[in-house]
Amino acid sequence: MLNQWKIGRKPDNNYVINNPEVSKRHATLTQVSDNAFLLEDHNSAAGTRVNGVKIDRIVLGLNDEFQVASVTVKVKAIVNPPPKPAPLPSLPSAQAIFIQTEFLKLESIWNAHKKVQTISTVTTLVITAAGTLIGGTLAPGMGALLGGTFAKLGTMIIDKPEAIKVIEYEFKEKYICPKCQSHFGNTPFSDLKKQNKCPNPRCKVVFIT
Ligand SMILES: [Zn+2]
Repeated sequence: MLNQWKIGRKPDNNYVINNPEVSKRHATLTQVSDNAFLLEDHNSAAGTRVNGVKIDRIVLGLNDEFQVASVTVKVKAIVNPPPKPAPLPSLPSAQAIFIQTEFLKLESIWNAHKKVQTISTVTTLVITAAGTLIGGTLAPGMGALLGGTFAKLGTMIIDKPEAIKVIEYEFKEKYICPKCQSHFGNTPFSDLKKQNKCPNPRCKVVFIT
């Protein structure tokens, strides 16, 4: 089943906005990965906007906001934020193993992020409940990047630019230092592995590779 929230004026919506400008069934927000959501307008009279621009459908991140008629709504206000990453174990040796395991996971996240940009022949991706893409190639490691939610999805069709946005949102949340949680930016995983430590000077955690 898709995690989906119907937005509108009628009381049977998941997110009710009691405002005469808002249509009875105004828009729908659908979760496409841990941190990315597809917002669709349903031909509403007053429209749905992102940054003042009227949209039919758009991929948004957890920290984005949008306007339903003239009402500003935060994505976070509608959906439950995903659980925070597991806290670091308190025993020093367990902590080192945890950091090491989490660090090595970043290789597939980096590869998936790089690879999705090169899927040039695909215009439409159909994500099924099984987490497979029909009509498109699921880049190796993309499952690791998209996370747990991906497998729970029902059937959903997104196009390539939308897929790239989904990957970008996940990359922003997941390509991070397992200790200080600062983002590694566009530093390739192979470089991180060579440097052997977190680039954040205040963190200095050493990755054993
Ligand atoms: Zn760090």
